[in-house]
Amino acid sequence: MPSSNIAIIGAGIAGITAARTLKAAGHSVQVFEKSRGSGGRLASKRSEMGRINLGTQAFSSDDPLFLEELHAWQQVGWVQQHHSAGQTYWTGVPYMSALTRQLLGDLNTDFSCHIQRLSHDSRGWLLHEQNDRAHGPFQQLIIAIPAPQASALLNSCAPELAHQADSVKVQPVWMVALGFKQPLTHNTNIKCPSNQAIADITVTPLSAEHPMQTWMLRARADWSSKHLENQHDDVIDALRSAFSDLLDSPLPLHDSAFAHRWRYALGALKQPTTALYEQQRGLYVAGDWCGSGDVYSAWHSGKNAAQQLLDHLHCTTIAHL
Ligand SMILES: Cc1cc2nc3c(=O)[nH]c(=O)nc-3n(C[C@H](O)[C@H](O)[C@H](O)COP(=O)(O)OP(=O)(O)OC[C@H]3O[C@@H](n4cnc5c(N)ncnc54)[C@H](O)[C@@H]3O)c2cc1C
Repeated sequence: MPSSNIAIIGAGIAGITAARTLKAAGHSVQVFEKSRGSGGRLASKRSEMGRINLGTQAFSSDDPLFLEELHAWQQVGWVQQHHSAGQTYWTGVPYMSALTRQLLGDLNTDFSCHIQRLSHDSRGWLLHEQNDRAHGPFQQLIIAIPAPQASALLNSCAPELAHQADSVKVQPVWMVALGFKQPLTHNTNIKCPSNQAIADITVTPLSAEHPMQTWMLRARADWSSKHLENQHDDVIDALRSAFSDLLDSPLPLHDSAFAHRWRYALGALKQPTTALYEQQRGLYVAGDWCGSGDVYSAWHSGKNAAQQLLDHLHCTTIAHL
């Protein structure tokens, strides 16, 4: 029994995975995304350094089901596998948001559509934008957005689910990209376990697509919290200086730089689950924070929310026969 009455809020990996799962089962869905493009924390940005991944630089998993999917995506050239220090990592090809765009395919998606409020009555769910334009009614709704944003939407219509989302302590992360036309000759495998400001460093080498060697500095969550409201330029200066301290020779002036602040970067429920739901009203909540706060958890949660929804539709159909 195909249905076109399903809405999904959020076109990150969780929302897209839910949408693909429902589509594969013969349902058509409508996705609503507040940004102009897909990806969420798998976003990439065009810059004079080339395309830069703003959030996740690479991800990993040992779940055979996810690995099976990753290998299928590898076959069609959507992801690439990397090996480092005995670990396997995956990246989107040629950048992270390209992967999510491929996954989204021709799924119906309303971009630049910020859902500000939800209401529910006997007809189903209405999704309201800021200008009070309403979408719906939808019989089934999957909310696949970060916990604080989910909590704000759920507060007036599903306070118990809002309360669970509210319990997630979400940490911010500052990212800084430094570009060098003349590549640095330093060791590109810099570890920073004891650095007060930087948690992780990723280097993108010079190439046809990347006119500058780019060093992506991910700030520590506690450092990011402390400097959350700082000016972008001050954050660039501070992380550049912390980076310089890690090198054994002077750091030349960079040719390009930018900073990006993620207010809701990392966080998860204390007791991991897969997805939250109120099946009687057709309401499902997914996202990385339902699991361990990573790409794999987002995928797993999106898949699970869609599966719960399908199981419920199936049971309801049988009950009506
Ligand atoms: C800097 C950084 C580094 C990271 N490093 C790693 C790593 O190394 N490994 C790893 O596995 N994970 C990492 N992560 C975490 C990983 O990126 C996330 O776990 C995952 O991408 C979350 O996917 P999601 O679909 O749950 O949420 P999101 O990607 O946040 O997607 C939610 C989407 O919903 C949209 N949205 C929100 N509110 C609304 C609304 N009201 N109306 C409409 N649309 C809305 C957003 O715009 C967004 O597109 C990192 C994250 C960051 C920020």
